[in-house]
Amino acid sequence: RPINVSEARARSLTQSCYRRYHDELRGALEKSVDMAFTDGLTGLYNRRYVTRHLASLAQSKGTDDNDTAQIMVDIDHFKSVNDTYGHHAGDEVLHRFAQLAAMGLRKSDLLARYGGEEFVGLFPPTSSQACLAALERLRHSFSEQRYAFAGELSSAFSAGLTHYQPGESAEQFIKRADNALYEAKHLGRNRIQQAG
Ligand code: GH3
Ligand code: MG
Ligand code: MG
Repeated sequence: RPINVSEARARSLTQSCYRRYHDELRGALEKSVDMAFTDGLTGLYNRRYVTRHLASLAQSKGTDDNDTAQIMVDIDHFKSVNDTYGHHAGDEVLHRFAQLAAMGLRKSDLLARYGGEEFVGLFPPTSSQACLAALERLRHSFSEQRYAFAGELSSAFSAGLTHYQPGESAEQFIKRADNALYEAKHLGRNRIQQAG
């Protein structure tokens, strides 16, 4: 048949509209999935994501990830940063911490913002020594950070480090990291405490 140019043009326009609509939908869906698992301020994973990850670790009884190390971090005296310099300043400290921590990560590591100024890191089987050394480097570089809003502010964090014990639940695993963090705070802050 002879090609009707106007009709062909109309059809191709319709097809490209469908295509664009389809791409937009797909983009929106991918964005919502990202948002569901990402923390808006830091760009790290959020609590929902790390909780699910821990649940599947516990479900597999650690067979896949035996000896996974967990670090629970809490920034020290963070409320006073907000109180002294304002909420924006506090946000900048959180963002800086996330950037620094993410820089030192390997692909297999997972870092999430667990809540306000608390973060959880999960590291696949590594020797305790290597893990601790990396975390000490992070602690040091975080304390060396300088901020435009306050030349004198020296930020610090306390952390609890523990390893997954086969058979324990996700809650027990988190609780042990949290207890070690509590101990680090109790011992004077600005330190990483290994779970006993
Ligand atoms: P500690 O050394 O014992 O951990 O004391 P702290 O001051 O760090 O802890 P506290 O729990 O007293 O205060 C945490 C503060 O974190 C209170 C809350 O307003 C603030 N915060 C939580 N989420 C955010 C956030 O997204 N941005 C900012 N700027 N502040 C936040
Ligand atoms: Mg806290
Ligand atoms: Mg704190």
